Amino acid sequence: MENPLDNPLLDFSGLPRFADIKPDHVAPAVDRLLSDARAAMRLAEEAPATWQAFVQPLENATERLSRAWGQVEHLHGVLDSPPLREAYNAALPKITQFWTELGQNQRLFEKYRALKSSPEFAQLTPARRKLVDNALRDFRLGGAELPPALKPRYAAIQDELASLSAKFSENVLDATNAYSLLVEDEKRLAGIPAGDLQAAREAAQKDGKPGWKFNLQMPYYLPVMQYADDRSLRETLYRESATRASEFGRREWDNTPLIGRILKLRKEDATLLGYPNFAEVSLVPKMAQAPRQVLEFLRDLARRARPFAERDLEELRAFSAGELKIGKLESWDIAYASEKLRAQRYAFSDQEVKQYFPETQVLPGMFDLVQKLYQIRISEQQAATWHDDVRFFDIRNAGDELIGRFYVDLYARDTKRGGAWMDGAISRRRLEAGIQVPVAYLNCNFSGPVGGKPALFTHDDVITLFHEFGHGLHHLLTRIEDLGVAGINGVEWDAVELPSQFMENFCWEWEVLQKMTRHVDSGAPLPRALFDKMLAAKNFQSGLATLRQIEFSLFDMRLHSEFDPDSGRAVLDLLDEVRREVAVLVPPAWNRFPNSFSHIFAGGYAAGYYSYKWAEVLSADAYSLFEEKGVLNPDAGRRFRDEILAVGGSRPAAESFRAFRGREPSVDALLRHSGMIPA
Ligand SMILES: [Zn+2]
Repeated sequence: MENPLDNPLLDFSGLPRFADIKPDHVAPAVDRLLSDARAAMRLAEEAPATWQAFVQPLENATERLSRAWGQVEHLHGVLDSPPLREAYNAALPKITQFWTELGQNQRLFEKYRALKSSPEFAQLTPARRKLVDNALRDFRLGGAELPPALKPRYAAIQDELASLSAKFSENVLDATNAYSLLVEDEKRLAGIPAGDLQAAREAAQKDGKPGWKFNLQMPYYLPVMQYADDRSLRETLYRESATRASEFGRREWDNTPLIGRILKLRKEDATLLGYPNFAEVSLVPKMAQAPRQVLEFLRDLARRARPFAERDLEELRAFSAGELKIGKLESWDIAYASEKLRAQRYAFSDQEVKQYFPETQVLPGMFDLVQKLYQIRISEQQAATWHDDVRFFDIRNAGDELIGRFYVDLYARDTKRGGAWMDGAISRRRLEAGIQVPVAYLNCNFSGPVGGKPALFTHDDVITLFHEFGHGLHHLLTRIEDLGVAGINGVEWDAVELPSQFMENFCWEWEVLQKMTRHVDSGAPLPRALFDKMLAAKNFQSGLATLRQIEFSLFDMRLHSEFDPDSGRAVLDLLDEVRREVAVLVPPAWNRFPNSFSHIFAGGYAAGYYSYKWAEVLSADAYSLFEEKGVLNPDAGRRFRDEILAVGGSRPAAESFRAFRGREPSVDALLRHSGMIPA
């Protein structure tokens, strides 16, 4: 048999060996690590219920699997190729299967229960106790405590829910893709930017047709809604988009019956687990305590945002009637009129702003900020990476001790998936040989350098970079020594965006931007007047945007807590009720928004959509301490590092927040940052 170390995915001695990993390594590594992990699982089943005898070996085996698979997933995300995709897809079901097996292992559940009730439990560190509690919680939510007679039904519900979710998003996708509109009369396209028209032209040409082809995908749909002067063109596309996957379209793509079935199954799932409704189940592993608390939070925010949303709408109506001669503002006019108002009020372009944000200024500026805040030092190092554009950095603390390392992969390329994200490559933990230093990947999709100049970032790009770096610091600056709750691991889902959104605030700080900007040609810092315009545009229509998010969140939370799917009441009735309560803009009666609300019917956001606003409140309120004490105040920085970043998932997020801020979270800072200050 070959030496396992010939397979770089089986080498855990240091950083991932990106220069050596080949698609052929995936299957043998995964097979071997799975068989090791299963062996560890069987040994753990027989072992005494102590940390050393059963949790530790299980953690070791599953960590190796996660680390190796993490490298494969990472490469699949940033350097995809047909052979790698094939290897990835072949291994994925085996990996999923293993985690399911582990999560449903009754004997391990009993073992964790025994450890929890043994005298040893009280002797464990708080982090380890949290790990054991998390494991027990996840077993319970997976149905481990159900009487044997009910288990098959519980499993059948999970299976059916998984396939209904998949079908829901397929229906949205199919209904989205089935529609297209060919426009041959160029006059109808007045107002749409040339670049977007070019894309529509090419889409028509691809079909061998004259004219311009539009569909319901965002890159085609949005430019029409925002810029097309032809009102009926906007109305046509809006109607098609707003009725996707509903009874108005092809019957086999109608999501209405699926919504009903999903809600019934979720109710049954909750009943089996002993909860009054599905929202209660969803909140168990989250920071929010109960549906009532979330509802109160949303309603309070709605009440405060409402006057600003009404003002936004009034302004938009007056502008539309006066400048655009639109009498009654319809749903398909909103984006169009808003875009015109925005352009009139804040005349500056992304192109203009970009010249002040070269990579050579932004990256060192961001590092300089966190070095001051957290008393660390970041320096560039050599390491084997997956692409020549990737850079690698070390983080050292004040005592020059290496505490974290990270890769930065900033530019878009064909082989990289879209968006921006942070992933942990290695988590911090204590090993016999010492501390295992955490490692992270930061991935973005920015434009690379052109014409011998450094890459230029839009202000949105800079915000994205700060956001992902915030996640990265959460992973890297942890002091926890057990990987299941180190850094970002084990942090509640509705609190995990705190450190990332927190970092975004610095991108709106004159003190920070002055040092972080330099015109790529003239070398001048960002002009104050341009910054003021950016700041003013930031909160354009923030009242309307806030109420819209609250409408979705309230609908989601009430649907999963108060609404009874067996009552015969229509989901749309509830949506109407929610809109009457909080919305200032009410869409047409034929709008079928729930039928494409994939977040809650096909994604992981069921009774969780509120998390967006929830985490925003936390991050804004955390940042307000820096506004009080000074943006670069090292004292506030040390506290944020100690109480939020360092503790990771080792204690409840609510406790960490209180420890940092000295009080409960308040929505005031978010309202202030959004320009919604009560008169
Ligand atoms: Zn994030």
